[in-house]
Amino acid sequence: MVENIFDFNIILWCFFCLLLNLKHTHFVMRLVYYIFFVILLINNSLYAQDSLRTPLNIPMYLSGSFAELRPNHFHSGIDIKTNTKTGYSIYAVESGWVSRIKVSSFGYGLAIYIDHPNGLTSVYAHLDRFNDSIAQRVLRLQYQKKSFSFDQYFKPGEIPVALGQIIGYSGNSGGSFGPHLHFELRETKTQFPINPMPYFPSIIDTICPNFEVLVVYSPTKNQWIKIENKVDSIIELDTILVDCISPRFGIVTKDFSNGSESDLGINTIKLYFNQELVYQYNNQIFSFDESKYVNAHIDYKHYKTYGSRIEKLFREPGDKLHVYRTNYGDNPLLPDSISDILIEIFDSKQNKHSLKFKARYHTQGAHMQCPEAINNALPKFRFDKENYFENEDVKLTVKKGSLYQDFYFEFSKQKLSHKTLSTTYSIHKDVIPLHQKAELSIKITDFPDSFKSKLVIWNGKSSLSSRIKGEWISASISKFGDYSLMLDTVPPLVELVKVDTSALTMFVFKVDDKISGITDYEGSIDGTWVLMEYEPKNQTIFYKKDMFLSRKSSERLFEIRIKDDVGNVSNYKVNFTY
Ligand SMILES: [Zn+2]
Repeated sequence: MVENIFDFNIILWCFFCLLLNLKHTHFVMRLVYYIFFVILLINNSLYAQDSLRTPLNIPMYLSGSFAELRPNHFHSGIDIKTNTKTGYSIYAVESGWVSRIKVSSFGYGLAIYIDHPNGLTSVYAHLDRFNDSIAQRVLRLQYQKKSFSFDQYFKPGEIPVALGQIIGYSGNSGGSFGPHLHFELRETKTQFPINPMPYFPSIIDTICPNFEVLVVYSPTKNQWIKIENKVDSIIELDTILVDCISPRFGIVTKDFSNGSESDLGINTIKLYFNQELVYQYNNQIFSFDESKYVNAHIDYKHYKTYGSRIEKLFREPGDKLHVYRTNYGDNPLLPDSISDILIEIFDSKQNKHSLKFKARYHTQGAHMQCPEAINNALPKFRFDKENYFENEDVKLTVKKGSLYQDFYFEFSKQKLSHKTLSTTYSIHKDVIPLHQKAELSIKITDFPDSFKSKLVIWNGKSSLSSRIKGEWISASISKFGDYSLMLDTVPPLVELVKVDTSALTMFVFKVDDKISGITDYEGSIDGTWVLMEYEPKNQTIFYKKDMFLSRKSSERLFEIRIKDDVGNVSNYKVNFTY
């Protein structure tokens, strides 16, 4: 269809040129042709890329942008505001078929995936509920699988979807903290998320991103230069003195779009040294496997220490994210010369802001390469190798591909505190990111065998899924930091907070497990499995009356059984009539 409009325009263009030459054509006819041509031209520019129907019928204001920097990932879609309410109709952005439905108490919550004939998949997440026919199908699947959570794929033709069909209603399910629609576009064949913004011309963003801070990295002391944003599209700074032959920069930015208070992210950065592009970051499509490289893209140590994200304008040697156009490592700069530096940042709608300054290398004589401080007392972990650390208390394996840069590994033991059962071991600090999980083992000392199965590795906030082998307890850790041992002998707390057989939600339980966490739950009525839903955000498990519950006038039994990660079980029974 897009090509057709384009072809038609070419024909029309020829007509138009012809008309201009036909001086004797009637003025009204010429005007009609002119207007028709302009309308088609506008249409053509709107359809420059296949545009899609919006998934909501309310104005599209964003609270999250594509490739925005998030904890341990790049945001894979856009977050669309829903006026802090749930229940707005969600429409299919294009015709196609439901290819996948995923239901979980975590992550995307209730999510639906639609494949389209144009090679794209659209994803709608954190839904409150599905449309009636999909909801019935989902409920049957949940009873079949005896599980609230499931992840099911469908064949083309099984659940066809028309353009603009209501597929569900907006919500706040899963790992969503405030009602909104998480909308994603993916390339169907790779499942790589792509930037959906070019497909929605109705999302208006004319606001340029802003520079907040320019960081000039130094082996001695980093320079932190606050940027004053004026209306100018180019900000010029005074000459900056750098103390490395190859200076490294970082930036903190802010970006807003029309009608939204939310700070959105930029997704393109360009750095020029003397008019030569030396670094480019352009994140319009990535794979979920590389999403964690966000920790290599940002200054992770600064983020963990101060909470703000500096985007580095250089690439760590272990950063395999494919969206860069750069060499690894340092940027060029000749000593004693003045270089022109230009940094450009772009948001998803190509709004641009530039920062310009001169950099001068100020150390005379020696060509200083900015060497890292060498520490012979500590083991050096190499980014391109498997790394191993062992002593009488702990063993640690960091697989190849887990690190973005080399560093000196630090280990220490803290004194026994009343908060933990064992010594706390500092397995470095959470200032060096891990791309893959590392394997940590801690020696078990002075624990009676009968308690061993209730032992877990504890990170100060929560426990890790732990395995015991002989004298050692092991777990996979996703970050460096302090680890100790904890005992979980307490079964999960279960408290009945509501019984109302006349309401849709008949039973509500408050649940909690302080140490190893709830991993399994099961409800039954008169011994038959019933669907229950766990909502970790408010620590409740509830039962909603569904089509599988039939009325009986006799007394009935509702049972719930909840298990934590080390196998402690709680049961609760309540009699009711319905
Ligand atoms: Zn989102």
